[in-house]
Amino acid sequence: MRAQPKASHYIGGAYVESPDGHPFPSIYPATGEAIASLFGADETTINDAVQSAVEGQKVWAATPPVERGRVLLKAAAILRERNRELSELETLDTGKPLQETLIADAASGADCMEYYGGLAATLTGEHIALGDSFAYTKREPLGVCVGIGAWNYPIQIACWKAAPALVCGNAMVFKPSEVTPLSALKLAEILTEAGLPNGVFNVVQGYGDVGAQLVAHPDVAKVSLTGSVDTGAKVAALAGEHLKKTTMELGGKSPLIIFDDADIDNAVSAAINANFYSTGQICSNGTRVFVHSKIKDAFLARLAERTANAVLGDPMDEATSIGPLVSKSQFEKVLGYMALGTQEGARLVCGGDKADVASMPEGFFVQPTVFADVKDKMRIAREEIFGPVMCVLDFEDEADVIERANDTTLGLAAGVFTKDIQRAHRVIDQLQAGTCWINTYNLTPVEMPFGGYKKSGIGRENGHAAIEYYSQIKSVYVEMGGVEAAF
Ligand code: NDP
Repeated sequence: MRAQPKASHYIGGAYVESPDGHPFPSIYPATGEAIASLFGADETTINDAVQSAVEGQKVWAATPPVERGRVLLKAAAILRERNRELSELETLDTGKPLQETLIADAASGADCMEYYGGLAATLTGEHIALGDSFAYTKREPLGVCVGIGAWNYPIQIACWKAAPALVCGNAMVFKPSEVTPLSALKLAEILTEAGLPNGVFNVVQGYGDVGAQLVAHPDVAKVSLTGSVDTGAKVAALAGEHLKKTTMELGGKSPLIIFDDADIDNAVSAAINANFYSTGQICSNGTRVFVHSKIKDAFLARLAERTANAVLGDPMDEATSIGPLVSKSQFEKVLGYMALGTQEGARLVCGGDKADVASMPEGFFVQPTVFADVKDKMRIAREEIFGPVMCVLDFEDEADVIERANDTTLGLAAGVFTKDIQRAHRVIDQLQAGTCWINTYNLTPVEMPFGGYKKSGIGRENGHAAIEYYSQIKSVYVEMGGVEAAF
């Protein structure tokens, strides 16, 4: 199977190659075979991309907002039209089952383009009365923004960054993860087809060093990263050195708290979605599942029964519900945590090892895994695994579970299951997390701001909130009288 793009980068509205750059393959995680060969950007390519963004941004910032919105709406329509083709590409690049990519990747990117396209003409400033005089504010773009993506939701991440950046009149240079380089190039093609002026959205490939060069580039005003906490710290430090604005969407070890009055089947569904969707490779996953000890046995029994129904296999088969992990290194890391859980004394309820898929013996498949009797101090309960490994912890007391849920340096997300509405809101009120759910988990509609507390991030993506992070306010005082001076 090949999915070779026309060239590695997309700059100024066209494909560009950099044959002197660092070569790297894109691997189909289900078979381990290379489906494309690309080159990382060299210095000239990076400079060309930023220069093209500088030029494109001037044209785009002068385009009336309503017209900018029309381009995003057109892009949304094309993303929807080509959803199957884009989903197949995303499945090849990430290994996520087509069952998921058909609904959660390009389709959510389209939602995002549509949301910000619709918002375009409403991004106004305000009038401020000052007696005889007055002031007004204007919302202006930042300039050239850099987007750096992780490998778990490649086209969705590209859209979550591009749409709010573009609607505010910025240009973007986007660097996908080198693990999943393909779909951002398709997004660039689609934006051109939708009428985006050349240079407004560019894609350059490469490893972290390319990302770092973009962050440090003097013509770049802002950086938005989706990635791990360690990378976030490095990128924020470098951006800070140059006093650039940042949005950081980083990792999590989020709690999902299930009280004894919860509907058990719904809670099990949420725990499955919070741990096994995308083979567990989701930053907001609720990987610490606190279950009230009164319902723990019933919960675990139902969870094991339903997890046995997971269909592991060929990701291109729409009946498959769990695909491989994204890469060999992720596969080894997750297997290491599965072994660690048993060593640390957690009780293995199901899974715990690699999975054999007969037709795909080289694939990076692992079994969906549940550990029970997990203790707060165990490493499997403290470190982000980014694979299908659920830790179930017991609790009895509300105040105690809140304290334990908050006992982490991370704070991306949290969930609460209870039928008691007062308890639901009281608990959510005390949880230190940027994105919370009551009686569900992991739904991230574009209308709702998304982002983390503590080390899980800086700023917000999605919703009206993202506009604040891709624009700046100019305040203008207008004097309607004379000017007094001391002398
Ligand atoms: P990484 O942090 O390894 O990489 C993220 C991106 O940053 C990649 O494109 C990477 O390039 C690039 N990068 C690495 N080092 C630097 C650097 N010094 N300067 C600039 N760019 C750099 O994350 P993963 O790709 O491994 O993704 C998994 C992580 O992402 C998980 O921890 C997860 O929690 C987090 N994540 C967070 C989300 C959120 O919204 N909060 C959503 C999805 C994932 P390359 O890898 O190509 O070398």
